Amino acid sequence: GEYIGIIGGGQLGRMMADEAHDLGFKVVVLDPDENAPLCQVADARIIADYGDQAAVAKLAQMAKVVTYEFENVDAAVLAACEAERRLFPNTRLLSISQDRIQEKATFRALGLRTADYLAVTGVQGEPWTQVARFPVIVKTARGGYDGHGQRICGSAQELQGVLEEWRDISVVVEQVVPFDKEVSVVLSRDQGGQIVDFGLIENHHRNGILDFSISPAPVAPIVRERATSYAYRLAIELDLVGTMAVEFFVIGDDVLVNEMAPRPHNSGHLTIEAFEYSQFAQHIRAVAGLPLGQTRQLSAAAMANLLGDIWTASDQPNFSAALAIPSTHLHLYGKATPRPARKMGHLTVLADSPNTALRRADQARRALTGP
Ligand code: ATP
Ligand code: MG
Ligand code: MG
Repeated sequence: GEYIGIIGGGQLGRMMADEAHDLGFKVVVLDPDENAPLCQVADARIIADYGDQAAVAKLAQMAKVVTYEFENVDAAVLAACEAERRLFPNTRLLSISQDRIQEKATFRALGLRTADYLAVTGVQGEPWTQVARFPVIVKTARGGYDGHGQRICGSAQELQGVLEEWRDISVVVEQVVPFDKEVSVVLSRDQGGQIVDFGLIENHHRNGILDFSISPAPVAPIVRERATSYAYRLAIELDLVGTMAVEFFVIGDDVLVNEMAPRPHNSGHLTIEAFEYSQFAQHIRAVAGLPLGQTRQLSAAAMANLLGDIWTASDQPNFSAALAIPSTHLHLYGKATPRPARKMGHLTVLADSPNTALRRADQARRALTGP
């Protein structure tokens, strides 16, 4: 079989590889860590830094097409495969997603509503602290994920302190949004421009990290329409090929876009069981130039992330107790060392309604650490 190249060896890459294998492809991975989840199941490995130009060139040479499973790859390094239109999603979409300032400017330019924000570069604490309405959330423009690189500030003094601490980097100062719900739209677009989506997924975060996702999100039709049309607009305007996710805050009937990820997304993990074709299957089809499957939801579902805390709290999680709950599916990513906030795996539970699924997913996860 031909090779699909995947930059990044995490769980997203590993779940992409499962689908690539089913479709008859081989997978070559580039990751600095030979023990990364995808490195254990890939057909070929290039163990090197993501910024290693020679390593990326080698990957591009081996693979028919190249994709990536996380955002923080140096876009310039990818230029070689991009030039041949063998890198999907494209580097422009990637580089916009890497920088919150560019990302928000792009949202605004496309007519998508966002939280009020200010882009701040360099020490300019004083003027900004005067115009900001508190509380605000300061986010580093680059490199943040799972709530890393974010500070909530309730006062001008706090904001001043954070801006001074981060004076050497670019940040956005963003209004804290009193949202009713957070939702995401995961969608896939193929090389001919056809788009399929997985509906709205409701997301619950804990300490800045995704905790639960529920599908379909119980929201008003107008909310669904607004979020979906925003996500389609981004996919079309930015010429997406592959799967991407767009995160939203919902306030009443209003929808504000938070951020996007040009890759399969944690909130879309439940598509593996809940939809006829998963976000990973659609991603591989799209990047490989194959037709997308029509997305059809097979069941309501909830997903619970399994963080390393579960392992550090008990010697051995009680998987048997969790799996005794009906329609529970366990996914472990093969990470050797559990650390408290590290994503080690997830549970997906199917049920007649999203709320029943959520209740069971919570129950299943609690069962892991005992009665
Ligand atoms: P991810 O892991 O999704 O990439 P991230 O670190 O890039 O996360 P965000 O998605 O911007 O960061 O923020 C993480 C979470 O923090 C959000 O899902 C939301 O719960 C909360 N949050 C972020 N920005 C705001 C805001 N302006 N108002 C209220 N809550 C916010
Ligand atoms: Mg993010
Ligand atoms: Mg986010």
